[in-house]
Amino acid sequence: MYQYPEPIFKLMEGFMKLPGIGPKTAGRLAFFVLGMEEEDVVTLAKALVNAKRNLHYCSSCCNITDIDPCQICRDPSRDKGVICVVQDPKDVVAMEKTKEFFGFYHVLHGAISPMDGVGPEDIRVPELLNRLKDGTVSELILATNPNIEGEATAMYLSRLLKPTGIKVTRIAHGLPVGGDLEYADEVTLTKALEGRREL
Ligand SMILES: [Zn+2]
Repeated sequence: MYQYPEPIFKLMEGFMKLPGIGPKTAGRLAFFVLGMEEEDVVTLAKALVNAKRNLHYCSSCCNITDIDPCQICRDPSRDKGVICVVQDPKDVVAMEKTKEFFGFYHVLHGAISPMDGVGPEDIRVPELLNRLKDGTVSELILATNPNIEGEATAMYLSRLLKPTGIKVTRIAHGLPVGGDLEYADEVTLTKALEGRREL
């Protein structure tokens, strides 16, 4: 029986490790690569390796970065008193697009979800608590997603931090419930930020 040559198999196997890519799509991508200019293939391969090798998590805010501390954490013009807590690195980009937030961020890399067995220790909550220890932060804006997990995370953090006296606010609704922060447009996100309420 005729089989594809080994290199094609390896390529398909590689693509199948990516989310949402089954055997059919993997095959289509593998053959597409064969048709690409060699120069473009080399650029793509290098970009993959470089991204993996040079990106890590910021030791302060846990965002992805190629320098440590990250570009945002080393910006002296930002307000040290405010931290905006988000679930994903993509949410930092969404918030920055509003040009309305001038504090720092903390990226949780997920949300608390008891149903999936994800607790505070499984996301970057301990790192956040560590950052709050020295007393420079006076307000924590919870910008987790407006869905069950995002709300559960916001609730957990607000209860946990109540005794510390740090003002804990939640960005306003008006964001589509069940949605992701990263898909909100700048106007909606700016309004949500302005209308934040204390928890
Ligand atoms: Zn950082």
